[in-house]
Amino acid sequence: MIRAALIKPNGYPSSSLKAFRGNGVKTYWSQSRTFFFGSSSDDGDNKGDGKGSSSKKSEASDAIVTEATSSNENLPSRQGFGDEAPRYPHLTALPVISKPLFPGIVTSVTVTDEETINALNKISSDSGPGGYIGTFLRKKYPNGVTDGGVIVEHPELITDASDLYNVGTLAQIHRITHNYIDEDEHSDPSSQESILHDGKTASVLLLGHRRIDLLSIDKMGPPIDSTVSHWERLLYKMGDDSSKDDVIRALSNEILKTIRELAVHNPLFRENATFFPTRVDSNDPYRLADFAASLTTGSAEDLQAVLHEKDPEIRLNRALELLSKERELSKLQQEIKQKVEEKMTESQRRYMLTEQLKSIKKELGMEKDDKEELIGRYRKKIAEFTDVPKEVQETMDSELEKISTLEKNSSEFNVTRTYLDWLTSIPWGKTSKENLDIGDARKILNRDHYGMDEVKDTILAYIAIGKLKGGIRGKILCLSGPPGVGKTSIAKSVANALGREFFRFSVGGLSDVSEIKGHRRTYVGAMPGKLAQCLKTTGTMNPLVLIDEIDKLGTGYRGDPSAALLELLDPSQNSSFIDHFLDVPLDMSKVLFMCTANDLGAIPGPLLDRMEIVILSGYDVPEKIQIAQEYLVPKALQESGLIELDRNDDASDADNIAETISTSSTENQDTTQDESQTSVPESLRIERSAIEKLVRWYCREAGVRSLNKYIDKISRKLALQVVAEAEGAELTKDSMRKSDTWCISENNLEDYVGKPIFTSDRLYDKDPLPNGIVMGLAWTSMGGSALYIETQAIRRGTDPEGKQRGGGMLKVTGQLGSVMKESTEIAYTVSRAQLADIDPSSSFFDENDIHMHVPEGATPKDGPSAGVTMTTAMLSLALGKPIRNDLAMTGEISLTGKVLPIGGIKEKVMAARRAGIKCIILPDQNKRDFDEIPEYLKEGLDAHFASDYPTVYDVSFS
Ligand code: ADP
Repeated sequence: MIRAALIKPNGYPSSSLKAFRGNGVKTYWSQSRTFFFGSSSDDGDNKGDGKGSSSKKSEASDAIVTEATSSNENLPSRQGFGDEAPRYPHLTALPVISKPLFPGIVTSVTVTDEETINALNKISSDSGPGGYIGTFLRKKYPNGVTDGGVIVEHPELITDASDLYNVGTLAQIHRITHNYIDEDEHSDPSSQESILHDGKTASVLLLGHRRIDLLSIDKMGPPIDSTVSHWERLLYKMGDDSSKDDVIRALSNEILKTIRELAVHNPLFRENATFFPTRVDSNDPYRLADFAASLTTGSAEDLQAVLHEKDPEIRLNRALELLSKERELSKLQQEIKQKVEEKMTESQRRYMLTEQLKSIKKELGMEKDDKEELIGRYRKKIAEFTDVPKEVQETMDSELEKISTLEKNSSEFNVTRTYLDWLTSIPWGKTSKENLDIGDARKILNRDHYGMDEVKDTILAYIAIGKLKGGIRGKILCLSGPPGVGKTSIAKSVANALGREFFRFSVGGLSDVSEIKGHRRTYVGAMPGKLAQCLKTTGTMNPLVLIDEIDKLGTGYRGDPSAALLELLDPSQNSSFIDHFLDVPLDMSKVLFMCTANDLGAIPGPLLDRMEIVILSGYDVPEKIQIAQEYLVPKALQESGLIELDRNDDASDADNIAETISTSSTENQDTTQDESQTSVPESLRIERSAIEKLVRWYCREAGVRSLNKYIDKISRKLALQVVAEAEGAELTKDSMRKSDTWCISENNLEDYVGKPIFTSDRLYDKDPLPNGIVMGLAWTSMGGSALYIETQAIRRGTDPEGKQRGGGMLKVTGQLGSVMKESTEIAYTVSRAQLADIDPSSSFFDENDIHMHVPEGATPKDGPSAGVTMTTAMLSLALGKPIRNDLAMTGEISLTGKVLPIGGIKEKVMAARRAGIKCIILPDQNKRDFDEIPEYLKEGLDAHFASDYPTVYDVSFS
């Protein structure tokens, strides 16, 4: 038995080898190379009976090796070639992978199993070069890779005969090259693969001679011994069957044509095609099919099918199929290559053209470089200004000159550039056209706000003067009042009425002077102040600037912002206001300033001096109802899309508006709604009773902000209900409509805004009040408020040791400021003096300590207006006489019992009305203030004026 080695035709590029190696899988494949021999050896008919190692007789004279490096001297002797190859019945079988060997073709394979290599060496040396073996394609893992993607370690080893295909090839060993991985001198250093194997491998050059059938495996090896039978040579004779001839010829021609086509794109094919006409007999269909199939990279199975086939037509067909696939593959490859190349060249072309364009433009002077363009832009902008002050013009010119000399990437360039950006963004000389029509202005002011007559009149007076003098000069108007009385919103409306741009900035908590005056340009990240930004944003030199919360101006370690504001707001200085960043005078004299404050007392005196003050005192219940009905409700309903209002209507006409509210929902549906819009129920409205309830039980503050919030809440909920019901969508229990009406009245108001916040008008409901309790009136920055003063007596007693304790002491709580604390002391003394007059026998103050408290202890209180109230409370306690619960009083008291005037009468009267007071005691000297407050506020109010305490006493205890 001859032992044969196993061979592997190689098909893996070296990159994949490395990849496998990287995965820890041993790989043994080396690059395969196929050689073509023009021998006529195919299915030869030589008879032989020995082993595959003997014959040395015949040789294939015309075998060709297309590999340039292979030289004929290395090829085996040509004995036993082609038809003359011996027909040994027993051969060493060599399983191969990837593709079967084809007769007439030289293939190089790598063998990895050491025993097999030894056996091959033996066959080769025993019989001299040209020992014979049988090669068979593996059925199991024909590509040398298992189903799980693992490379078969020794593909030349099999476990079962069925692992091999039955038809194989008798092959002659031409050369064995050993590869070692160690530094052995025999190793082939040029061989890449040697370093990839951890053992000995061998490359074996084999020449296929004829097809053989595997009859049996006699020994599994390695190496494998087999018994084979040799195929007889198949010949096709032309002329026997002309129709078949034609088919064969046609197929042959097609194959030739495809090979030629392939040769155009594929260098490997081109090489073979060159030799092909002289070496392969194209009239032999069997030979042609084998040759064609061996050229392709078809799958192992497809190639085996060609090897297997006896019928010339079918064999040709199969080969042609493989070739055609190869051609398609080649085309695809070509297309991909072309696309990639196209893309590359397109972007390259674009780049080249734009570069060319740039240089052409430059040459023609059409494009200046960036810096020149920038300077050009600045000059153009400067030319557009109508009135640039001389100083500013000079600065701009010198900066432009400077920038033209600076390096573009230098930091100074950027600083100068930012500076020029800002300088040119100030709207020098640009003003918006003013509306000097009093009628129009009044319309707009009335449209947006109810009441506020003083503000409106002041603005109208400005306009009138402006008309007479030809333009309104800058004025500073300060609106002072509690939150939510419309200070900010009226300012917006004034801007509208005057046709000026509006800019608001809040100075509440502002402590950095550079917010107003800007940073010096030397700082990193320097910016101009708010005023320069304002001019830039509004684009005019005469906007209306609202300085919000001026009473909350902070004082910081970085200068005093109020001093900076002083410069800004002083009409004699502000025509040349200097911003540190811009460093040129800005004319702010055309700007109309409006400020808002809650507490005038907190505004620095010098600032206050420069302003025209308008006090907004907050709103009374009827006023709030009016504002809600005429302004807030229509606005809220409109903002939620429930009605549409024509803002140009004369809003001063209350009836008009009210009518608009009730009917506009109907009109809207006809005129402005398209089909997709949800129709709003006609009956939807917020009734007066609901607003009254809101004002009385939900929002008691001086302004209308929280009232506005409640109304907004109602309209949002209504909008949700309208849309949900139109869509049939479900709502949560909280948001769904509980009553079957769309009319919000006092009855269903709670469904929309929840339970009332206030449950009773006052802390003490009962009439009269308990002894020692009196209602006073105070004024805070939140508006006027009614607060109780409570007193309690602590009786003098004796301690456990029998010592006297208490009596004649006053204790005060309720977060009172120092002024108010002083008031309590005075009130105490006055009370004692009064009691001595009223009831000389009473020793109440000697026998009791007095504890006085002002509820809402968490709120700090101060001010000199509670003297009379405190005195009355203590007397009520001392005399045991209660005070009626609808009486309130205010006034400072002197040590001798004189009642002194106080401020904030209007706010206090309003607070008293809000608290349901019917009778009020005020200092006599405030009578004039009381007379000035609107009649409706005094309606139903029994006002008494006192100049000394006995008058107060008489009213209180009568
Ligand atoms: P402030 O600046 O005084 O704190 P806002 O200007 O923010 O108050 O006003 C709060 C809301 O009350 C605004 O929506 C405003 O329209 C409304 N409002 C206040 N007073 C009136 C009024 N007299 N007429 C109409 N709406 C008013």
